[in-house]
Amino acid sequence: MTAREDQTQIKFPCSRCGACCRLAFLVSESVRGDVVIPNEKGVCIHLRKDNTCDIYESRPKMCKVDAMRPPDVPPMEWYSKSLKACNTLHLGVYSTPRIPIVAE
Ligand code: SF4
Ligand code: SF4
Repeated sequence: MTAREDQTQIKFPCSRCGACCRLAFLVSESVRGDVVIPNEKGVCIHLRKDNTCDIYESRPKMCKVDAMRPPDVPPMEWYSKSLKACNTLHLGVYSTPRIPIVAE
């Protein structure tokens, strides 16, 4: 466990909706790097049909909510902001609000 993870025992409640991965084309190439590559539909090539990631253990920083948290933003505030973003992404991809799932 890293020092950052130690600050909160609460995990980000990702519902594995896959909305963020389906909008990979919106992320600039300089941020996506050469790992998150959009297919012809704009979806990351690593997204499986069941919405899991086929490179999960080695996914880049941009795919990790905790790793993207600015040092001056407390974890719960960051999760709250991130969840709002998730809802917006879900609405854009599936035309429905995200259904919150409790963290494991
Ligand atoms: S949009 Fe949010 S809830 Fe959906 S898979 Fe991405 S991080 Fe998880
Ligand atoms: S690398 Fe994995 S987590 Fe990141 S956008 Fe692609 S499918 Fe999603």
